[in-house]
Amino acid sequence: MRSETIPLQDSVVYGPIHSRRLGHSLGINVLPLSHKVCSSNCVYCQYGWTLPEGTAERLRRAPELLQDIDAAFADHVDRGTPVDCVTLAGNGEPTLHPDLLELVVGIKMLRDRHFPGARVGILTDSTQLTRPRVRETLGLLDVRYMKFDAADEATWRRINDPLGKTDFQAMVEALRRLPEIILQSMFIQGSHDNTDAPHLQRWIQVVGSIRPLSVQVYTVDRGTAASGIVKVPRATLQQIANRLTTATGIPADVYD
Ligand code: SF4
Repeated sequence: MRSETIPLQDSVVYGPIHSRRLGHSLGINVLPLSHKVCSSNCVYCQYGWTLPEGTAERLRRAPELLQDIDAAFADHVDRGTPVDCVTLAGNGEPTLHPDLLELVVGIKMLRDRHFPGARVGILTDSTQLTRPRVRETLGLLDVRYMKFDAADEATWRRINDPLGKTDFQAMVEALRRLPEIILQSMFIQGSHDNTDAPHLQRWIQVVGSIRPLSVQVYTVDRGTAASGIVKVPRATLQQIANRLTTATGIPADVYD
């Protein structure tokens, strides 16, 4: 695995990014441009480590961000950009933004105005789901992609290194209660590994209890924060996906 991580997003609206997972997606970064703000410190993060101290850049509030998003959407309409979905993601964990509800409501209105028919979704590390207001806000979105790489607390701490006080079992409980979610499970090998047989068995069991609409099984394709992380071969990812579907009936797609 090459070691270079990628630079942070340098604008509020970025992309479009074309991927099999999301189609043509415009990313929305509601977090600072100069440093990552995240509730996790995943060993495989493409942006590098989450540093304890950021920079002096202030967090921009919803009215100001929505103005920028409106202007960027209008620009993409003028340029004829194809947009299948608009996805809250970017420089860290979007659910940490204090104006999340206002942002989600505003982005949906802007979607209706500029890209009717496009879905509004979020990529989240799932840690803030234990907060009722975050759960309610996520419920307003068209699609929710929830990170779930680890089926037990020890693996979660080793791979995702949550930085807040989130309780693992409470997070799993909240995932079970959130309707119509898509789980994203990153598998890695090398210096950190979540593909060992006991972990996979437990992962299948816990994913089966969460009952998501589907699971996206994937591996690293860029530089990682920790060194020595190795991409999982596609055949192994496919075996993991097949085992999950056979055991639980939950559809699983492989992306590598
Ligand atoms: S949750 Fe995402 S942004 Fe945060 S450390 Fe993990 S991979 Fe990076």
